[in-house]
Amino acid sequence: MMSTSNVVAIDGPAGSGKSTVAKLVAERLEWSFLDTGAMYRAVTALALRNGVALERHEDVVQIAQECLIDTIPRVTINGLDVTEEIRGSDVNHGVSIVAAIPAVRDAMVERQREWSQRQARGTVVEGRDIGTVVFPDATLKVFLTASPEERARRRGDESADSINRRDEIDSTRAVSPLRADESAVVIDTTDKSIDQVIEEIVQCLHQR
Ligand code: C5P
Repeated sequence: MMSTSNVVAIDGPAGSGKSTVAKLVAERLEWSFLDTGAMYRAVTALALRNGVALERHEDVVQIAQECLIDTIPRVTINGLDVTEEIRGSDVNHGVSIVAAIPAVRDAMVERQREWSQRQARGTVVEGRDIGTVVFPDATLKVFLTASPEERARRRGDESADSINRRDEIDSTRAVSPLRADESAVVIDTTDKSIDQVIEEIVQCLHQR
């Protein structure tokens, strides 16, 4: 079994504050940060660029298995910079379909574990299945939630319909659905500042 000491797993639905909080927790701890959503988004962007119909699972899986992805400092796939493109509406629309394909998930999970092992210090990893599947032995598992109104307020350019659709697909898919692990600390971020949430996570980590 790989070593999963010093992994903070942060999961939650879209708009729960995950990305912002996870990045800042990593900065505070001086640990490495991984946005796993960006990886599923990058695979989706490349499939769309290549004109692959997302229902053609074999073609999408081939991309997922053969691609090289970087997420920091820019999101690249096979050297192609897709940092902006992955936040666009086409990728928002397709990403949950791609992420529901089991073999795509296997390919991404393997990369996520390998990446974490290569880091000299601890890692903060953010996604939907990090505490449940990717790092079941993580040092600390956090599940962030927020009220639907607050999540809609934080959504940026993405429409409420698009976010709800993604959450619905992500929570009901057969493989690795979005859910809080039994051992996760659940934090409702609705009425909390970003600093408060970060503080709470760092305190929990120090108590481990
Ligand atoms: O986190 P973000 O909203 O960028 O993730 C985009 C999509 O990627 C999610 O809606 C979900 O379908 C997928 N995802 C996933 N598992 C992860 C991270 C993201 O299925 N660990």
